[in-house]
Amino acid sequence: MHNKTIAELIEGLQKKTFSSVELTEHFLARISQLNAQFNAVITVTAEQALAAAAKADERLAGGNAPAMCGVPILHKDIFCTDGVRTSCGSKMLDNFVPPYNATVVDNFVRDGAVMLGKTNMDEFAMGSSNETSFYGPVKNPWALDCVPGGSSGGSAAAIAARLAPGATATDTGGSIRQPAALCGISGLKPTYGRVSRWGMIAFASSLDQAGPMARTAEDCAILLNSMASFDDKDSTSVDKLVPNYCASLNNPIKGLRIGIPREYFSEGLHPGTEQAVKKALANLEGQGAELVDISLPSSHLSVPAYYVIAPAEASANLSRFDGVKYGYRCDDPKDLQDMYCRTRQEGFGEEVQRRILIGTYCLSAGYYEAYYGKAQQVRQLIQQDFDDAFKSVDLIMGPTCPSPAFKFGSKGDDPVAMYLEDIYTIATNLAGLPGMSIPCGFVEEKPVGLQIIGNYFDEAKILNAAHQFQQSTDWHKQAPEGSL
Ligand code: GLN
Repeated sequence: MHNKTIAELIEGLQKKTFSSVELTEHFLARISQLNAQFNAVITVTAEQALAAAAKADERLAGGNAPAMCGVPILHKDIFCTDGVRTSCGSKMLDNFVPPYNATVVDNFVRDGAVMLGKTNMDEFAMGSSNETSFYGPVKNPWALDCVPGGSSGGSAAAIAARLAPGATATDTGGSIRQPAALCGISGLKPTYGRVSRWGMIAFASSLDQAGPMARTAEDCAILLNSMASFDDKDSTSVDKLVPNYCASLNNPIKGLRIGIPREYFSEGLHPGTEQAVKKALANLEGQGAELVDISLPSSHLSVPAYYVIAPAEASANLSRFDGVKYGYRCDDPKDLQDMYCRTRQEGFGEEVQRRILIGTYCLSAGYYEAYYGKAQQVRQLIQQDFDDAFKSVDLIMGPTCPSPAFKFGSKGDDPVAMYLEDIYTIATNLAGLPGMSIPCGFVEEKPVGLQIIGNYFDEAKILNAAHQFQQSTDWHKQAPEGSL
């Protein structure tokens, strides 16, 4: 059962080939047998899952149940879950049990999906390797000595290892697409505002966006149908009709104009990755798409602009963790100042503290205009590049990240090398555009991702191209050894 896609599981549930309780028991058993190898799941909600599955079976028996009814999934531990610890990968929130669900979680409850548990992640979603988690790193199912990517590495590894057929994730600078690429699965970051951020622990509010991860584009479409909604509790949620993302998957892509940015095929790109991506593009060309050479001239500015804007917003968002309201508090504080200082020193890991320091510095009086103000201007340039490009193309494609999964510890003491992991993904967050990664080959026996970027609210177009690619290739069907 664990090798079936979500689409196939839905069919099985609706035809009563198996029940949601059977399916849930099967995935819970896999998690308890295999998760220790990967450390992908950090909280298992078995009892709750079985109760939800029994309820889903009742709804299925009544007929007319929503598509996701009875399908087991995992949630990244950044989404608040009522009565279930929500740690955000941090010691700071190791004891935090929210009294409510994030809107994304509630949307899945509404549709009868079954939560199996919560996935590991980089602390406060800051990282590209999962090495910053308080709960220890996640291992890549394709190579246990390599990282799964981050920050949604737990969700990506769990799907690759068939511990769940789908999961939620978030992407501030690449955290859905980069781990999807490194673990050989599919992951979509929607347009900013498409999915509610309410109840999702904030990292950089103008960049954060939740999205689905699964093995196929079709499954991502099914998940997005449940996830996307207008939410008046999120002031940046966009009140725009949510289309049925499955409806256009089978459209032919003949005549689709695909922009290939020159800047995404330059220095630093692994030759094997380049080859796999070019082969994927040739496949799409073979299906009648037209490849168009384009330029995104401000691309080289995206990493520096992001590493001002994201830490600046993070420093403000994380000021709420002070030992007073919730989360960790240091032992025996001498006075209020001592409590603030030691709580934050002991509760936050090194990378989170580095970001708070950078952000606070960039926002301080006298530097604000020079750093934050300048970075916002650069952001405009990056957005303008995409606006110009989308005048002549329908989608933009290239590699998701410069190279395949790397070994643990190999970038740990060099933050800048780690930051360059997101060199191709960050610009879409700065512009607020949707982007996806799908598997398109292997380098050194590790998966490679093809990135597909769309114009605002063009998720259906991205998913259509991704699905058509997956109809004529089987990279998304490959499984790491031992997981079949
Ligand atoms: N790797 C990037 C960072 O560390 C992006 C993380 C993310 O998208 N959450 O900021």
